[in-house]
Amino acid sequence: MHIRRYLHVSLAAAAVVILLKMLAWKLTGSVGFLSDAMESLVNVLAAGFALLMVSIAGRPPDADHPFGHTKAEYFSSGIEGLFIGLAAALILVEAAQRLIAPHPVHSVPVGVALIALATAVNGLVAAWMLKGAERLRSIVLEADARHLLADVWTSAGVMGGVVLVPLTGWLWLDPVVGILVALHILREAYQLVARSVDGLMDKSLPDVDLLAVEQLLEPYRSADVQFDHVRTRRAGTRRFVGMHMHMPAHWTLGQAARCRLAVEKTLMDAMPGIGLTIETLPQGEESHQEERSPREPMP
Ligand SMILES: [Zn+2]
Repeated sequence: MHIRRYLHVSLAAAAVVILLKMLAWKLTGSVGFLSDAMESLVNVLAAGFALLMVSIAGRPPDADHPFGHTKAEYFSSGIEGLFIGLAAALILVEAAQRLIAPHPVHSVPVGVALIALATAVNGLVAAWMLKGAERLRSIVLEADARHLLADVWTSAGVMGGVVLVPLTGWLWLDPVVGILVALHILREAYQLVARSVDGLMDKSLPDVDLLAVEQLLEPYRSADVQFDHVRTRRAGTRRFVGMHMHMPAHWTLGQAARCRLAVEKTLMDAMPGIGLTIETLPQGEESHQEERSPREPMP
């Protein structure tokens, strides 16, 4: 079965789960159940985002988008992060009102039964997707399944809280559980927005990738050949590396091209799918647009 098939099923299951949880919230008036429903909504958005990423980002470059479509994910993760932040804010407002004016939760057995059913659906779909992720070696699918599993634990905690309210008479317990879930959701929203901003701002590749590039270039460095202006960025799953390659001015164009080709092949073999730009220049000369290395401070 294809990855998209799994993601479609997870979307359908999530829709059912959300409906069950919203129903439980309406019946009981529990803030905990509201937060649990919102957490599931977050999962639907995450699954939808994964589906979008797989389909749009995977498109090959075309005439209008010569660098490919890998940046598509930053739009969706940014918007998704904002929606998730809104969901968390909604829970916090509801919980604060309930702390100020406490009142008991209603129809606890029916509510808990609905949440238990939703949790069973989540757990089964997550287990099935984990198997699929292993078979297809898909990180996207695995991340989606782990989300669902985390949701199962949230539901268990929320159910525990709601069951304890009528037993202990602690009316504050339900809103406090809701606040804890909201804070967790808020953390997720922050991570999504941060990732989107990093991507749109062309943040450099992680140090481990920079080190790998330096190590690959090392054997080619000599009195004749120098590299500078090494710059990296990522767009979605795609990594881009650019650099200057300085060679003696008396070398023939053919000689320089052969040397450049060897460097290019080494990098492409070691980092598959990399977007590589090697500008060749004579020693001691820089291109007009970047006389100054980007690592040097401005005067
Ligand atoms: Zn240079």
